[in-house]
Amino acid sequence: MSPPLPNKKRTALGDLYERLKPHKAVLALVFLCLVALAVLELAMPQVLGYVFDHVFKGDESLSAELVQERLRMLWMVLLVVLGIYVVRNAIYYFAKPRMISVGERVAFDMRQDLVRHLHTLSVDFYQRSNPGKISSRVMRDVQRVKEFLQDELAQMLINALMLLVATGLMLYLNWFLALLTLAVMPFHVLVYYLFRKPISTYARQASERFADVSGNLIEQLDAGGAATVKAAATQLLEQEKIRQSMRRSMRAQIKQSKYYYLQKVTADMLIGLGTILLVGVGGYLVLHERGLTGGQFLTFYLLVRILYPRLLNLVSQAGKFTRMATSVDRVAEILQIEPSVREKPDAIPAEIHEGKIEFRDVVFGYDSLTVLDGASFTLGPNEHVLVTGPSGCGKSTLVNLIARFYDPQKGEIFIDGVDVRDFTLTSLRRQIGYVFQDPFLFNDTVMANIRYAWPKASDEQVVEATRRAYAHEFIETLPDGYETPIGDGGVQLSAGQKRRLMIARAILKNPRILIMDEPLVSLDPEAREKAVEGLAGLIRNRTVLTITHYPGELPYANKQVYICDGHVTVRDLSGRVIHSE
Ligand code: ADP
Repeated sequence: MSPPLPNKKRTALGDLYERLKPHKAVLALVFLCLVALAVLELAMPQVLGYVFDHVFKGDESLSAELVQERLRMLWMVLLVVLGIYVVRNAIYYFAKPRMISVGERVAFDMRQDLVRHLHTLSVDFYQRSNPGKISSRVMRDVQRVKEFLQDELAQMLINALMLLVATGLMLYLNWFLALLTLAVMPFHVLVYYLFRKPISTYARQASERFADVSGNLIEQLDAGGAATVKAAATQLLEQEKIRQSMRRSMRAQIKQSKYYYLQKVTADMLIGLGTILLVGVGGYLVLHERGLTGGQFLTFYLLVRILYPRLLNLVSQAGKFTRMATSVDRVAEILQIEPSVREKPDAIPAEIHEGKIEFRDVVFGYDSLTVLDGASFTLGPNEHVLVTGPSGCGKSTLVNLIARFYDPQKGEIFIDGVDVRDFTLTSLRRQIGYVFQDPFLFNDTVMANIRYAWPKASDEQVVEATRRAYAHEFIETLPDGYETPIGDGGVQLSAGQKRRLMIARAILKNPRILIMDEPLVSLDPEAREKAVEGLAGLIRNRTVLTITHYPGELPYANKQVYICDGHVTVRDLSGRVIHSE
């Protein structure tokens, strides 16, 4: 059962474009502000060129009147400069927070989409994936996209715009000098393309290796993981594992930075070359009075001073853009994973009245391993069935198919005569109670943990469920009873106590079908006896499937489903075979 491969070809940019679309009004406004900013910035060289040619004009002797007039001009110029700065900063102050807000909103939507999508994915996805790696995509990659939108996108647009306008102005001032200074530009583009590939490869590697580190850490920080490491005395081995992952992440990071800065340095050298050309040839033109005044040269020089850093910025932003696009890709990869269990568009809400379960020629396997090879049997309403067989033969798999944690590759499963694939997933799962073998409790109160199965349940209903699951007595002895926090920072429960909470949680929603995986495991003999008594009470009027290795301990059962080598045999309690394939 191989997972569907994500379609990498849906471009990251297309994805980002779709996400920016709802903000197009704000973006257009910000863009207008940027145009105004660009114009204002480009006006400065004109103003200074004017000052040089008209205010400082190098006449030998200036009459007192002329000095007064020039001073007046200087005052005017100063006012213009002041005006430029005031307007520039006002525009910036207006536009920047809007870009910040667009970045925040896009990141919010991306994370929300990811979380929503992750919840639609089937159990097999979670079994294959490392939680650290997935959470790194939700947090780190989205963060990178957000920062790019907030800090770079607008700047990138303004840089491109200024590059165009400054080039136009330079061509207008002196086309020959302009072409000469612009001759280095194609080399900048070449440098960008030369460095793009290694930067993006190492950026991706660094991201993935970093996710490996957080994956390893999460495993080891988990109480179970930490206990296993201590019990096996493999701390050194685990430290080595993390060290290796961190080293790989560090190496990729360093390599990525090496290429990133090499690109910057090469681009800066090109700028140096351009400046030498400009000053040399420009100086020659002014000295020989070949169509360029000193003021114009100054304007030209200042335009180049604006143009080159912008170009350099643009090139380095292209690197950042590549890294951001890698992150958008990584997010899109997750969003494109199709859940292997899907709801039909015309699915109906499940209403399980009888609780009759029928497997019809069910074939199921993981990859090349066949677990069920054409299983057919019927479990009648209100029957209490033990699911037995050697370890690893497929008992959990068989019960997991009922609530569609997986879908069979062939055959059908019916509940009350309806194919389970015709039901909506939530309605189906709401009516089937599961007590998994590994109890999972949230870091919350006892009450919240049990109510999790049915948030609308009243306190009385929760207490009733815990009484039936033989959990009420021990909950009452906890420091704050039902309000006692459990898990991190709260009380730690024994494995048997956790199991009883799991049973209470499963029966709270009063399911027509109850599935329990080894409910007696980790209980001491006395608790076991009580639990069997309790189970006998709570299974009435339900179809119950209990996975167990100890059939003798559960006297309430009236049928046994034995699974071995992909084949299922159904026996009654006297051992008589009712059905065998
Ligand atoms: P049981 O509950 O009887 O111990 P399971 O249903 O858990 O058996 O597993 C049946 C077989 O399928 C085992 O060989 C197990 O290794 C394999 N298996 C279980 N889950 C997966 C999975 N998600 N991917 C691949 N193989 C799996």
